[in-house]
Amino acid sequence: MAYEGLSLLEFQRRYNSQEACLQAIAEARWPRGFICPHCQHNDGYRLSKRRAIQCTLCRRQTSITAGTLFHKSKTPLISWFWLIFLMSQDKGGISTKRAAALLDLHYSTAWFMMHKLREAMAVRQNGHLLSGLVEIDEAHLGGKAKGKRAGGTNKKQVCVVVERLNRQAGDAVLIVLPDRSGEALKTAVASVLEPMTHIRTDGLPKNSMLHGLAAKLNMDTIGKNYDEQGALENVDRVISLLRRFLMGTYHQYCSRAHLQRFLNEFAFRFNRRYKWSELFDRTLSAAALCPPVQYAAIS
Ligand SMILES: [Zn+2]
Repeated sequence: MAYEGLSLLEFQRRYNSQEACLQAIAEARWPRGFICPHCQHNDGYRLSKRRAIQCTLCRRQTSITAGTLFHKSKTPLISWFWLIFLMSQDKGGISTKRAAALLDLHYSTAWFMMHKLREAMAVRQNGHLLSGLVEIDEAHLGGKAKGKRAGGTNKKQVCVVVERLNRQAGDAVLIVLPDRSGEALKTAVASVLEPMTHIRTDGLPKNSMLHGLAAKLNMDTIGKNYDEQGALENVDRVISLLRRFLMGTYHQYCSRAHLQRFLNEFAFRFNRRYKWSELFDRTLSAAALCPPVQYAAIS
């Protein structure tokens, strides 16, 4: 899909300096204008030599990047902005290797920055519940172990829940399951649905675990034999898009936590696919409003 919002030249023109990036972060953080965190006064001015805004009333200084994802980052903000731009270019995202090469960053630097951004996307989506009619299925991601690892598989179970609106897909939520049990599936599904949601899934025995949930949330359609063609077409489509995305960006031996962050990135983009032109602004705003992510949390 073409990026209609911001052309490469326009992007380069707009965010060509540290100062321009700081200004954009400040605007994303305080969309209705600066509010002093110390005295709640609503007026301040930029200090030209520092990354800070000074309150006109209590005169205390507030760092623009402190308390955001960019807190104490040694990477120039321009590189951060380019990375956000690259990550919001294409449905398929961008691989760490490619991003690192394009931005002249060490692989590990790019890797951490990208995972931090995925974390910000996850924070933005937390608590987002699906409703109406949803389709549910499981995907088994990651390939069989190769070479020395032969003997086991490294597949991870992922629960995919997609809203169905007049046969079209609405929003999606994707969760890595801790194990293959029906109980894990039930817990995952229950955590992302509004009460009274109707659910649709295939007739696998494990899905009978969802029956208990159905009674609780007033769902009445489980186990029904759908004659309608494409009864699970939306969840099928999301899973195939997901596989394509992971093929280009994700390393199959990644831990469960890493995979969840990839799923968050995928869902963040998928759920904003009709607002593609705003994707850069939305990702920047997710980063500006996300508390700092510690190194240890993602390593
Ligand atoms: Zn103040």
